[in-house]
Amino acid sequence: PLRVACLSIGDELLSGRHADLDAPQVARALGEMGLVVDRVEVIPDDEQTIAEAVGRLRGPHAVIVTSGGLGPTLDDVTRHAVARAAGVELVHSEVAWAAVRVWFERRGVEPPASNRRQALIPTGAVILPNSKGTAPGFLLELDPETILAVLPGPPGELVAMLQDELVPRLRSRFGGDLNLMRHEFALFGLPESEFAQLAGDWMSREAIPRMGVSARDGVLAVTLVSREDGAELLVAARAAEFRERFAHWIYSERDEALATTVGRRLLASGTTVTFAESCTGGGIGRSLTSVPGISGVLREGWVTYSDEAKRERLGVPAELLTRHGAVSAEVAGAMALGAARASGADLAISTTGIAGPGGGSQDKPVGLVFLGLALRGEVWTLERRFPPVDRDRIRRYAEQTALFLALA
Ligand code: ATP
Ligand code: MG
Repeated sequence: PLRVACLSIGDELLSGRHADLDAPQVARALGEMGLVVDRVEVIPDDEQTIAEAVGRLRGPHAVIVTSGGLGPTLDDVTRHAVARAAGVELVHSEVAWAAVRVWFERRGVEPPASNRRQALIPTGAVILPNSKGTAPGFLLELDPETILAVLPGPPGELVAMLQDELVPRLRSRFGGDLNLMRHEFALFGLPESEFAQLAGDWMSREAIPRMGVSARDGVLAVTLVSREDGAELLVAARAAEFRERFAHWIYSERDEALATTVGRRLLASGTTVTFAESCTGGGIGRSLTSVPGISGVLREGWVTYSDEAKRERLGVPAELLTRHGAVSAEVAGAMALGAARASGADLAISTTGIAGPGGGSQDKPVGLVFLGLALRGEVWTLERRFPPVDRDRIRRYAEQTALFLALA
């Protein structure tokens, strides 16, 4: 496969103030098209260091992607360093300068003189417009075998430029050499170790197709990849077996968050939704509202933290609260039903649980969470005992489990 190296440039990335978010974005975007990032280096805003790294990586790599150090200030030296490494001059580009000016003029201000620095481009480079910021990026041929992509550091700018500019250009450059088939699955609720048991030798490094797995907040992202001849058939055959074996846990055949799948399905079926949250404190609302267009099916939801709020806002009977306690299947069900009634939504999901670290007891330990679901008058509840490791994790798992429930 064609190899890619990432250089994440910035003193702040080495001081512990910022984690490097750029290289993972590059690895993901380019990986999806069949290029393989096999090296990531985080280096300071130092001209000599940057030039040395580019010089060293250009041989074995078909693509080098740098991020950061394109700002207007004197400590941003990436453009100087890469021009030096390529052995070309930096020249003022009217095209780049016009792009910088437009960015300021849209906000009705004159660009500061210091921003002229951002219009310096190595001779022979192709400018990559930046739709989210001032600094244009550029592409520079280093050798016949290596192309250098220089991108801005702020992750939002970098991601937009990857999608809009770099990926399409690399696709047309490498086209037929990419020859990659991939298929994604997203699973929820299956621990990674149990997944490995069930997947067996599909997970071996020699397996064809290769299977990659990553875990986060109860979600497993699984990728099947093949570059062999007949890749399409190989991947399709394994995907069919996979679908059967893991049917129970698969929520999407795209690499997407649970909330995105839930939102997409609700919108497609026109099912209106609401939520009543206690221990998740608005997490469900936040993740559902991250889905663009969700207002088509979501009008309102509740965060009812106290017993009174559960009674007054959702009409949870006082008697249920005293008899079973707020953390109970009965109350989870009543919360969902109450929210559905109050908002008129088809579907309501609810959470109530003990996130800790305090507040647990013998029969209701930290990590105990009840989820409720009301669909057109019918109510289901689910009891889960999450490991009592930390408050945030319990809350995220509860939120994700409630969303998963909404798919059933
Ligand atoms: P700008 O025109 O915005 O100055 P730039 O390319 O010079 O663009 P930098 O000055 O290197 O960008 O970085 C600006 C900010 O963007 C940093 O302070 C940091 O908050 C963020 N940033 C830069 N690089 C990264 C990275 N690799 N990962 C996460 N955040 C980053
Ligand atoms: Mg910087």
